[in-house]
Amino acid sequence: MAEEKTSLHFIEQMIEDDLSNGFSPDKIRFRFPPEPNGFLHVGHLKAIALNFNLGKRYNAPVNLRFDDTNPVKENQEFVDAIKENISWLGFQWENECYASDYFEQLYQWAVHLIKEGKAYIDSQDSETIANQKGTPTQAGTNSPFRNRSVEENLALFEEMKAGKHEEGAHVLRAKIDMASPNMLLRDPVMYRILFKHHHRTGDAWCIYPMYDWTHGESDYIEGVSHSLCTLEFKPHRDLYDWFLDQLPPSNDLRPYQTEFARLNLSYTVTSKRKLAQLIENKIVSDWDDPRMPTISGMRRRGYPPNALINFVNTAGISKRENVIDVSLLEFCVREELNKTAARVMAVVNPVKLIITNYPEGKEEVLEAINNPEDETQGSRNIPFSKELFIEREDFKEEANRKYFRLTLGKEVRLKNAYIIKGTSVEKDADGNISTIYCTYDEDSKSGSGTEASMRKVKGTIHWVSAAHALDAEVRNYDRLFNDEAPDQHKEKDFTDFINDDSFSIQNAKVEPSLANLDEGIAVQFQRLGYYILDKDAKEGQLVFNKTVGLRDNWSKKQ
Ligand code: ATP
Ligand code: MG
Repeated sequence: MAEEKTSLHFIEQMIEDDLSNGFSPDKIRFRFPPEPNGFLHVGHLKAIALNFNLGKRYNAPVNLRFDDTNPVKENQEFVDAIKENISWLGFQWENECYASDYFEQLYQWAVHLIKEGKAYIDSQDSETIANQKGTPTQAGTNSPFRNRSVEENLALFEEMKAGKHEEGAHVLRAKIDMASPNMLLRDPVMYRILFKHHHRTGDAWCIYPMYDWTHGESDYIEGVSHSLCTLEFKPHRDLYDWFLDQLPPSNDLRPYQTEFARLNLSYTVTSKRKLAQLIENKIVSDWDDPRMPTISGMRRRGYPPNALINFVNTAGISKRENVIDVSLLEFCVREELNKTAARVMAVVNPVKLIITNYPEGKEEVLEAINNPEDETQGSRNIPFSKELFIEREDFKEEANRKYFRLTLGKEVRLKNAYIIKGTSVEKDADGNISTIYCTYDEDSKSGSGTEASMRKVKGTIHWVSAAHALDAEVRNYDRLFNDEAPDQHKEKDFTDFINDDSFSIQNAKVEPSLANLDEGIAVQFQRLGYYILDKDAKEGQLVFNKTVGLRDNWSKKQ
């Protein structure tokens, strides 16, 4: 799909306009500003690609800035995972920044606001403050502490910083307007007391700035020209502007905020809080469970970075909320893997096949092309012998004319090998087929150039040589939710829509070349889908995650 881009999206258009109105190109600067309170998900991917693509397009720096204002929920593990994810996607940030590096500056500015009569210490508890907020149609109530003197405010704020007051005893609030139609402007809290260890500043601070007070100021400090965020921050823009208006005068560039629509994906939840809940409730194993829509989860599942970037580029940038079908993501994964993944043979539900007229003890080495889409990938050798495994689903004792796989009395080709004909079966005490017997046409070897080798038979099936095959565990995944919009139901919780069949394990037999497979490289198990080695695999053990099937079977299943 990754079609040539013909038109500019609205943010590119806006920047083009800025430039033609005289905005200096060397002042353009972007940032991606995650809060390190969870792993990045597919929604963040959109914001990442947007900012870094713009950086490339305008040859402008892109900062990675951690908005780390809440020590209760944030930690270094999340910082590390975010950095690792962005690098894996192939993007490079200019500076690694932290809002916590600006705590001192933010404190100084807060003092400035107090001195200007634009901020005050409120000594009410949070519930009382919340109750005084009013409603969208009803003005709020002024706090009885709103008119505290500047001196008293300064003294209290300093005491708060010095750890002389308990958590919840006081907050610093901006003095804006308790009757503002924008509820966010009703004297928002700027600082709260928290005796919490911060993953970067340690115990240096026991007052922490609120996100809204920090975010816009951090953009300003970094000289971010185009501050891009998702639509839910639109009402925050007035507040960010108000805060910037109160700072001491300077000639510095002010960030300009533009909002774009979040990426919403069908059958998926994209909220760190909800993803964390899936882990807490043990519905998934961790942030990088291959069913998680996190970048780490998708990576472990085998989604290549190129596919993810093609996906968000195809989904596009818009101003209006919409939902992207998860099948587009899967399509982009298949499309990429079809080009890059080597084809190999693996049997995920094996049944024994014995070629009765093949010499006992004989072994052959056959040649197989690695990827017909990409000749540079060359070919490899696969061993062939009298006893093989094939898929249980590829055999039926009796079948109609439309069945093109193996049956008794009819011919199929074994991929890269010979034409065979089913002759009889052996069953266990329960009536299940334990062994299939067949004969082969000795002259029909693929690529041998004989007349028999060119004979057309209707079906081709894959196989592995029993004596040479390696055992592998195959982990199959399906969508985590069985509802298109699991978190959009009023009466039900998103966890009510968990797909109970989202995980299953099979014991497979795979061709021996897979012993040398590199980690992180997906392969195609012919006729089955794409698979990737999982990190759980111990030395000498093969554990595969199924990335995606060869085609979209999901709509059929419904
Ligand atoms: P969540 O709602 O999942 O907790 P968040 O918005 O709180 O995510 P942040 O770490 O603050 O997470 O987000 C960093 C950046 O990623 C922000 O600019 C935010 O607007 C953007 N972002 C988050 N979710 C999405 C999404 N679904 N689509 C596009 N951008 C997103
Ligand atoms: Mg959010």
